[in-house]
Amino acid sequence: MVLRVGVIGGGQLARMMVPAAVELGLDIRVLAEGPGMSAAIAATAEGDYHDAETVLAFARDVDVVTFDHEHVPQDVLAVLRDAGVAVHPGPGPLAVAQDKITMRRRLTELGLPVPDWAAVHDAEELRAFLAEHGGRVVVKTPRGGYDGKGVRVVTDPADVEDWFIAAAEVGGEQALLAEELVPFTRELAQSVARRPSGEIVAWPLVETTQRAGVCAEVIAPAPSSAGRVADVAEAIAVRVAEELGVTGVLAVELFQTDDERILVNELAMRPHNTGHWSIDGATTSQFEQHLRAVLDLPLGATGAKAAVAVMVNVLGGPADGDLAARYPAALAAFPEAKYHFYGKSPRPGRKIGHVTVTGDDVDDVVYRARAAAAHFDD
Ligand code: ADP
Repeated sequence: MVLRVGVIGGGQLARMMVPAAVELGLDIRVLAEGPGMSAAIAATAEGDYHDAETVLAFARDVDVVTFDHEHVPQDVLAVLRDAGVAVHPGPGPLAVAQDKITMRRRLTELGLPVPDWAAVHDAEELRAFLAEHGGRVVVKTPRGGYDGKGVRVVTDPADVEDWFIAAAEVGGEQALLAEELVPFTRELAQSVARRPSGEIVAWPLVETTQRAGVCAEVIAPAPSSAGRVADVAEAIAVRVAEELGVTGVLAVELFQTDDERILVNELAMRPHNTGHWSIDGATTSQFEQHLRAVLDLPLGATGAKAAVAVMVNVLGGPADGDLAARYPAALAAFPEAKYHFYGKSPRPGRKIGHVTVTGDDVDDVVYRARAAAAHFDD
């Protein structure tokens, strides 16, 4: 009998699960939000993931349901659970990933290192937080943010007046997340994968660079991270996965400070941009591993296949929208590079693909990966 995995969400993460599923001989089905999504190559259904009936009908035909994103509402997840559908990651851990205030609260309860934070309900509370944190802080919308879209550096409550108004309209807790502006020396990410039966494995720690809140580059393994930093990062990610009961891939975004503190920024309970290097750079990619993990199959080896792997995102793409015109020169100039495009049309700032190069020398590999990716940008 063929094992069937259902992925909710038709973005590039679902798309990149497809080759892994094909290799493993799995039947992968995708519930895409609509036509023309990245995962349209495998989309067997289109529909609204907010609608419990749609999601349940999709789920009935698969052995396990997993996700391309964390946004499936809890009431829909509850319907799946009540119907006996295997859902990984489950509603409990997903609730933590869905709301940045819940996430901060849980991580704080677990005693894990996080930036100073507060849930601020109005301008007065934010003013007080600003006064306690040097007059310059980060404010985030708790839900629905991605690629830095719900993140602002704030010096005055008026900077987020629109968010307070929007939060009040939505109702609920109506709070924003205020955080100290962490003076990090670099950003890191630690990915692990965990099976429902408990097996857990970690990939090498990576260094990430964000531009305007969007992941731009990843170096694997993170330079100068042998020893304690890597041990601390792995211990944090393993602890989060085990305490929250995460199943599948968990990516933990981290800040490293100049006094060598490691703080948790974000959690993602799915394959993550900072793990794309693993497709070409690790024995088992995060996409294959996610499928193995959610099916509760033995996990693959996570070691790096080369001394260094560098992944550079293609953000935006050519201004004239003609991606195809860029292939001949890029592919000829860097035949060693691995190109991954997501079937998305170019648009300023949009993640349309990534390029990975592996090799022995960090500076050389960074140069080649950037140059190869630059062929697709203006
Ligand atoms: P998103 O969910 O949109 O990816 P994040 O919370 O990961 O948002 O923030 C995006 C980026 O903004 C981070 O990668 C980091 O560069 C910066 N950032 C976020 N929080 C802080 C903070 N407390 N201090 C300093 N920089 C931050």
